[in-house]
Amino acid sequence: MKKLIILYNKACKAITNALFPEHIKCLGCGKDLYKLNMFDVCDNCRKDLEFNNGRRCARCGANVYGQASYCFNCKNTPRHFDRACAPMLYSKLTARLIKNFKYNNAPYLASTLARWLVQEYVKSDFEVDIVVPVPMNENKLRRRGYNQAELLAREFCKLTDLPLDTTHLIKVIDTDTQTHKSKYERAHLENVYALKDKNFFRGKRVLLIDDVITTGATMDACAKTLNAKRVYGLAVANSKTRIRQASNINAIKDKKFIKSTVL
Ligand SMILES: [Zn+2]
Ligand SMILES: [Zn+2]
Repeated sequence: MKKLIILYNKACKAITNALFPEHIKCLGCGKDLYKLNMFDVCDNCRKDLEFNNGRRCARCGANVYGQASYCFNCKNTPRHFDRACAPMLYSKLTARLIKNFKYNNAPYLASTLARWLVQEYVKSDFEVDIVVPVPMNENKLRRRGYNQAELLAREFCKLTDLPLDTTHLIKVIDTDTQTHKSKYERAHLENVYALKDKNFFRGKRVLLIDDVITTGATMDACAKTLNAKRVYGLAVANSKTRIRQASNINAIKDKKFIKSTVL
C-alpha cells in the first residue's frame, strides 16, 4: 500500500514537473531538457548511465556473473545487513555525478539522485520503519560542509514520507574513504560507528542510505552498530571493483574458487 502511495505521489510530482520543470539542463552535458526526464539527463547522456540490471549478489546487490548467487565479498564475509541494492553501477556518468556531489560542492544533485533511490526502493520488497543515512564524522563534516548520504536520505524521505533519523547513529572516528580498500584493511572499521542510545533501533526495520556501496564494509559496520530488527541498504550505485578485487586476491592462488564465485 505504501508503495502505491509513493507511486501516486511520484505521478503527481511528475505532472507538476512536466508543467513547471525544476531542472532544465542535462546533468551530463548541460544541454537544455524540454521534456520530463526521470534521470535529468538527455537521451545522449543516458547512454552513459550503466544500470545495475544484470544478475546481482543476493546480499549486497553487486553485479555478479554466471550462476553466482553471492559476490566474492559476501561469500567470504559474514554480513550484518539483510540485503542491499543500488539502481546504478559506479561507472561513467553516474561516477562523475557522485564525485561532483561529494567533492565538488554540488549538494543540489541530491534531489535527482534521491529519485533514482526511490525508483529502486519501490522495486524492492524492503519493509522499512525508519531511514538512517550513513553518518559522517564531525571533523569531516566541518571540512566538507555537508554529509552527502544525509542529503540523499532527506530527499528520499520527502518523496516517500518515511521517518528519518540523523542523530542516533554517529561516526566517532574520522577514517579515509573506503573506496578501493581491501577486506584486510576493513578491519579498521571496527568501533568507527556508535549509537547514542543503544536501544533506539531495537525492534525496528532500518533502511541505511549511502551514495555508493563499494565493498559493503561501511554498510556492514553501520548495520552491526544499529542493533536493529532488520537492516536494509540502499545506495545510488554499486561499485564494480569487487570483481577486480576478487581477481587480484585469489586469481593466482585459486582460479577454481574465483570461477565459482564471481565469474
Ligand atoms: Zn546530455
Ligand atoms: Zn555481495
